[in-house]
Order: sequence, then structure tokens, then C-alpha cells
Amino acid sequence: MLESFKRVFVIGCGTCSTVCQTGGEKQLKSMAEQLKSAGKEVTGAIVVESPCDARVLKRDTRKLKSELERAEAIVCLTCGAGVQDIVEHVGKVVIPALDTKFLGAIERIGEFYERCRTCGECILYEMGGICPITRCPKSMLNGPAAACSR
Ligand code: SF4
Ligand code: SF4
Repeated sequence: MLESFKRVFVIGCGTCSTVCQTGGEKQLKSMAEQLKSAGKEVTGAIVVESPCDARVLKRDTRKLKSELERAEAIVCLTCGAGVQDIVEHVGKVVIPALDTKFLGAIERIGEFYERCRTCGECILYEMGGICPITRCPKSMLNGPAAACSR
């Protein structure tokens, strides 16, 4: 995806991606190093508190305006919502570096359980608060959902 770009800027997420350890300060640094060793110029990098919130995105990126302007593309370590917010408000080509999997519940750091696929037709009220779409491996509504959990 980055083949035709020489100068890149990296954006991480200070909320979910930091908690998931996929797009916080540490991963941002590691991504910048990998990009440099692949021959890219990293014009700047920042962990935005929550890139899916346009107000926060604008506030946090304001201080790195010239570094952002110099970049030809942005490498983004956020979920798909963050990527799209950056596309809309920063006006550059944005390369998603992560794959968004699900809405999860956190048990402890590094331990997450898939709980919602944002299906848009929530039936939790009929299912005793257990989501069969997410927690049944076959997404069956008439299966023993509780037995399928975890
Ligand atoms: S929803 Fe996406 S962009 Fe927003 S805080 Fe979570 S990972 Fe970051
Ligand atoms: S039914 Fe499951 S996947 Fe759909 S919105 Fe509700 S919790 Fe999320």
C-alpha cells in the first residue's frame, strides 16, 4: 500500500489501540522504525487521544501541521472509524495499518473477548444479554449461545 509514497506521517490512537497494544506510543515508535528501515522518511508521528473524535483529532494534530503537510500519506494505527475520520479531516491518503476485528470487553490488559459485531439489529434483550451473533461460532440465534461463550 505504501509503495508509491516516500514521505509518511504515523498516527496512533491513545484509547482503544493503546489498550490493545496495537497503536499506542510503543507501537508507533516501532512502526516508525520499520518504515525508516524500509526506506521511508517519517515526517512525524503522534498518538491522538481518540482519532474517531474530529474535535480531538484536530486539536492533537494542530501542533504538527507542517510535518503532516510534508507527508504524502498517513499510516494509521487505529480502527476503521479512526481511519475514516483522518481521511475526512486531514485530507491525505490514509493507509490503515490495523484490521478492525470487533467490539470487545477487557478482562485484563492484553485479554479481550469479542462481544459485539455492531450488527445494527440488537437482540440482546431477547437473549438474556448474551449475543449469539458474536459468541456462537455459527452466529445461530436458536443455538445454545451460553455454551458457546469464550
Ligand atoms: S474507536 Fe477507533 S479511533 Fe476511536 S478510540 Fe477506539 S480505536 Fe481509536
Ligand atoms: S445483537 Fe450482538 S452484534 Fe448485534 S448489536 Fe447486539 S450485541 Fe452487537
